[in-house]
Amino acid sequence: MPSSKQRWILTLSDTLIRIEGAIFKISNYNMATVKDFSVEEKLTELVHLQKTESKLDQIHILKGELPIEVADLEDEITGLTSRMTRIEEEVNGINEFIEKKKAGIKESEDLLKKYEKQTDNVKNSREFEAINKEIEMQQLEIKLNEKHIKDAMEEIGEKAVKLERAKKDIATKQNVLNGKQEELGKIVAETEKEETHYKELADKARTKVESRILISYERIRKSYRNGLAVVPVEREACGGCFNAVPPQRQSEIRLRKKVIVCENCGRILVDNDLNDAVEIK
Ligand SMILES: [Zn+2]
Repeated sequence: MPSSKQRWILTLSDTLIRIEGAIFKISNYNMATVKDFSVEEKLTELVHLQKTESKLDQIHILKGELPIEVADLEDEITGLTSRMTRIEEEVNGINEFIEKKKAGIKESEDLLKKYEKQTDNVKNSREFEAINKEIEMQQLEIKLNEKHIKDAMEEIGEKAVKLERAKKDIATKQNVLNGKQEELGKIVAETEKEETHYKELADKARTKVESRILISYERIRKSYRNGLAVVPVEREACGGCFNAVPPQRQSEIRLRKKVIVCENCGRILVDNDLNDAVEIK
């Protein structure tokens, strides 16, 4: 994407010009007298920051997709668990319904007993018919309630299958999650000290770099997958994009009097000696 590349190269140069432009000539953005640090010191701090953050990047790569995978699995398990809770609540509701229907049957059975006793003492056929009607009604009521209970039991059966499936899904995912959490935990335990140390170093280096250069640095770092914003000139070429750096530019870089960026990729260029002199401990 040459257009977007072009855009931020211009922005970077623009920033540099503007920082210096406020103090010096726009055409010559010599860094030497800005604040109390020399350009060489500033470049050294930039390399320091870059190398420290590259160490942090390596730790990040080591963790890989694990943090995202763990978070995704946790979300899925939460979703499945609330699904399970919902099904359980539905089953509870159905059970309550069944209990009511059972109570209804019991009521009807009690009435039937009462009516059957009454049939022993009927005085006329009209009374007999009336009692018989009541008996039929209660028998119907029982049948209806039994049908409701049967349907409800079927529904519970279906829900039980769903519940079982959700439980199995949760168990499977929990298993995978445990493994990934353990793996991540190990990496975190191994790298935590280093990470904290490098973060402190990076923060320290950051305070020694001007905020506007820092903004450019962060912008370039983010735009490349390898996170390299400050690179050495290696074998006559930019250490970031491997584009050739003209000899005249190389000597300028070696002088360490200006912040020079790669014309092709926009990365800040430093000479190999300066780059090698910075060691991160
Ligand atoms: Zn380059």
